[in-house]
Amino acid sequence: MKNTNNNNKRLAHWRRTKIIATLGPSSDSPEIITKLVNAGVNIFRLNMSHGSNDDRLILVDNIKKVTKRLNKQVAVLVDLCGPKIRIGKLVNGKINLKEKDVVTITCGMAGATNDKIPSQYKGLYKDVKKGDRIFLDDGKLELVVRSINKKDVICKVKYGGELSDNKGMNLPDTEITAASYTEKDRKDTEFAISINADFIALSFVKDKKDILKLKKYLRSRNNEIPVVAKIERKEAINNIEEIINESYGLMVARGDLGIELPAQEVPLIQRDLIRLSRKHNRPVIVATQMLESMISNSQPTRAEVGDVANAALSSVDAVMLSAETASGKFPLKSVEMMDSILREIEAYQIKHNCFSDSNDLKEVDRMTSEREAFSYAVTSLTQSLELEAIIVPTRSGTTAVALASDRPVSPLVAVCPDNNICRRLMLHWGVMSFNLEESMTHSWKQMSKDITKKCLRGDKGKRILFVSGFNDIVELNEPVIKLVSL
Ligand code: PGA
Ligand code: MN
Repeated sequence: MKNTNNNNKRLAHWRRTKIIATLGPSSDSPEIITKLVNAGVNIFRLNMSHGSNDDRLILVDNIKKVTKRLNKQVAVLVDLCGPKIRIGKLVNGKINLKEKDVVTITCGMAGATNDKIPSQYKGLYKDVKKGDRIFLDDGKLELVVRSINKKDVICKVKYGGELSDNKGMNLPDTEITAASYTEKDRKDTEFAISINADFIALSFVKDKKDILKLKKYLRSRNNEIPVVAKIERKEAINNIEEIINESYGLMVARGDLGIELPAQEVPLIQRDLIRLSRKHNRPVIVATQMLESMISNSQPTRAEVGDVANAALSSVDAVMLSAETASGKFPLKSVEMMDSILREIEAYQIKHNCFSDSNDLKEVDRMTSEREAFSYAVTSLTQSLELEAIIVPTRSGTTAVALASDRPVSPLVAVCPDNNICRRLMLHWGVMSFNLEESMTHSWKQMSKDITKKCLRGDKGKRILFVSGFNDIVELNEPVIKLVSL
């Protein structure tokens, strides 16, 4: 039985692709956080590159109060800078670089003068060589190294512009020897632990060793916050298999990636990373410039709308907003716009009874473990039965994650007694989670009633498919798959 039009509408009310919004000066008050949560943000990102921990503590407090009041599961992702290279504070706060000018970057803050740009990375002069390109401020300015004189790197300006304090530097031609998990990252990890963060993202990962250093530190603090690897440099692409094996999930960090590598390579890298993540059953985030023009305009460009739509069509787990919500003029409108694009695409996918291009799955060459065969069977069932929802009682979240990876057409409700796991599931495509501890020991019938009351429409005659058992947790001696009529 195919879904009817009526059913299409009903199923469309749950957005499957998750939204991550970065918080910052444009979005720090409880009022705006409330609006963003109501508009559908699933995860807030705290970017450790900017701001102070004092400000972030206020933010976290605001998030916790708002989500408690609204009774919504919203996770927090702490994003560590990693070995991101930045210039320091300029003597006059800014400097204007003109084409063909000769300009000096000096290593360490002490040497900064009116016309010398300080580099926070002290080893820069050791790593660069004549002819290397240095990009500044997300690639907007470009310099070429002419010579190195002691700790000064003398460059010629190829593309100029205004440069202000602490802007980022990218050196795609240079082998950077900077430490990967820095002292600042360690302090920021402590911060993440102190606020009980749901995820830690690590920037500029180059191989599995970077991830292992962070995980080792977390273990030494008796902590296991899941680690998301930000893929934004060439080495990471070359070492992607080992990185994915050690990570909870991946972020396609297109901002830096598009400078470290030619920008035209980013779309296919994005496609490959999404497929690889699905093959490994890992969540994947597409990030940066998704609605960039909404930093200053109330409407996105059509190209940006297409970008968000394509990410949804490729069944990515989450899409991310950066400056749009952190420092832009229209944080709420940006989230609303992203939400409506995703819903439009998903309504189309529901209409066609399919969330995933079958070629996708063929191409990812899925492994055939018992778990995958099982979840594939469940997905097939959801395509032929008119289900209200799939309900997944789960303690670790494993069953819900495995099912979601096959992109079933019915809404997926994870029922979990642990709030930490409920929030963690917010990164996964299609999973809604509810903390319903009492229901775990009820009968199936009682559980479907409870959940229907909380979050489903409960149309008479509709059926719910219960699935549990990949990590068997329900204290019910029942089969693993059960169909219950409402
Ligand atoms: P960033 O990472 O916003 O921390 O730089 C994302 C990216 O580079 O795309
Ligand atoms: Mn980056």
